[in-house]
Amino acid sequence: MLHKTIARPRAWRQNSGVIEGFDRNRTIRVTVLVENTVNAGGLTAEHGLAYLIEAGERRMLFDTGQMDALVRNAAKLGQRLDNIDTIVLSHGHYDHTGGLALALSHSPKARLFLHPAALEQKYTFDKRLGKTRSIGMPPECAQALQKREVVWTPSVTDLGDGFYVTGSVPRATTFETAEQNLFADPECTRPDSLLDDQSLFFESQEGLVVLLGCAHAGVINTLAHIQSTTANRPIHTIMGGMHLLNASPDRLRQTIGRLKGLKVQKLIPLHCAGWEATLALWQTMPKQCVVFHAGLSIEFLR
Ligand SMILES: [Zn+2]
Ligand SMILES: [Zn+2]
Repeated sequence: MLHKTIARPRAWRQNSGVIEGFDRNRTIRVTVLVENTVNAGGLTAEHGLAYLIEAGERRMLFDTGQMDALVRNAAKLGQRLDNIDTIVLSHGHYDHTGGLALALSHSPKARLFLHPAALEQKYTFDKRLGKTRSIGMPPECAQALQKREVVWTPSVTDLGDGFYVTGSVPRATTFETAEQNLFADPECTRPDSLLDDQSLFFESQEGLVVLLGCAHAGVINTLAHIQSTTANRPIHTIMGGMHLLNASPDRLRQTIGRLKGLKVQKLIPLHCAGWEATLALWQTMPKQCVVFHAGLSIEFLR
């Protein structure tokens, strides 16, 4: 269970670089280092996702993007990687883990946190190419990982200093069904249940902040799981991939209904949220939605 904090007005802001007056002892800053879109010229866009989280002395990466955008954008934003202490992987897909080998080479002290199933083979049937495509962690990244201290996260895991990862998320809702085109074998006969999918969360003065990778487990399943482990603390902010690309109208309607019911205050759809879903979120929760790209930061009071 997380400890209680006193609710105070939240300070948050966006910019394209370093925030002036950032008090690292009182503030948690989340910077999107990799995303499908960028905020400013000179930054690299990549189909993928990676966050930098700074709080006190802690400097963590959540996911590593697909290729080298993480390293390029960190340099462009004046962010060091040599003092990263923790790298958490949301799941094994290449667009979240493909930058791992490069990230590790820049972050000699980083400990790794991931679910064991993130190392399993992952495939999709690419209808455009008419053949199976491997979409798991690239072999060089899986090899680089062997040389580091790894903490496996099958269930909720304490990352220290008030940060947690969910581990496997129970599939509790009926409407958040598994993605049809993700498989555990190259013949595409065994569906990949993506048990490795996990999200990172922490408590701010206004409530919980949840960072999603792709939310293959379902956004609502993920939030329900987090609330069950935090004695139903209110959820203030959700940001990240919501994997609603192929969501049915019914799933979308139910997801939005539940987000409204949870009184989520800030919604930042990224990466694989899907344009239709993002549009629906904006239409129904315009006050909560925020446009975000790689290069932007958001701050939360501890
Ligand atoms: Zn994924
Ligand atoms: Zn993804």
